[in-house]
Amino acid sequence: MREMRRPSAGRLITGILETLYPSVCPSCSARTDNLLYSPFCRNCWSMIIPHRGASCRICATPFNAAAAGICGSCIKDPPPFSQVISYGIYDSVLAAAIHAFKFRKIRRLYKPLGSLMAELPLPPADAVVAVPLSAACLRERGFNQSLLLAKTIAAATRAPLFPDGLLKKGETLPQIGLTAKERSANLRGAFTAGRSFRGMNLLLVDDVVTTGATARACAQELARAGASRIVVAALARAGTL
Ligand SMILES: [Zn+2]
Ligand SMILES: [Zn+2]
Repeated sequence: MREMRRPSAGRLITGILETLYPSVCPSCSARTDNLLYSPFCRNCWSMIIPHRGASCRICATPFNAAAAGICGSCIKDPPPFSQVISYGIYDSVLAAAIHAFKFRKIRRLYKPLGSLMAELPLPPADAVVAVPLSAACLRERGFNQSLLLAKTIAAATRAPLFPDGLLKKGETLPQIGLTAKERSANLRGAFTAGRSFRGMNLLLVDDVVTTGATARACAQELARAGASRIVVAALARAGTL
């Protein structure tokens, strides 16, 4: 008697994947081959690596040359946060993953992306707060990407998450194309602390830190609400010096 051929585990998983996530990898167009960070394929996801090159000790701006120390803007205008700790450079697969998460609204990517952030050497914190979105932006996207990342980090570090720790009032102009001065003017008064953070060490979570203007504006407000130390945790750092 011939044995019944059973589908292999691999074929079964592929079948389930095709039903659940009929998709191809946004980076290389190969068929999605996993559930963890779908729609990205294993090969592309493995290319997301932490930044090990030189960068500013305070704001984490990557240095072009093998320089060490603190960048010019942190010296000239010390930020209200003590440090930015970011996972990678906003480039390649990491940029594609953040884009898919935020703009293609693939919400489930917060878990694998948040897990990358949870690997960072983050200091112990009394609370985790996320960079907020305006109500209109939140309505449009359906979720706050930084808050979802913060959720994963809070769970991993066992620090309490304050989802309304920071609120964004109204709309601000897109930051693209503005000078550093215009960026901070644009964000002046944009953020409000939802509670007192007196004497607390905070972890402020952002998805991408570009010029640092948003992180500065948020940290300033958290400091005004009494926070004694603010460390910014970011998934990616854009911009080079
Ligand atoms: Zn791929
Ligand atoms: Zn710096």
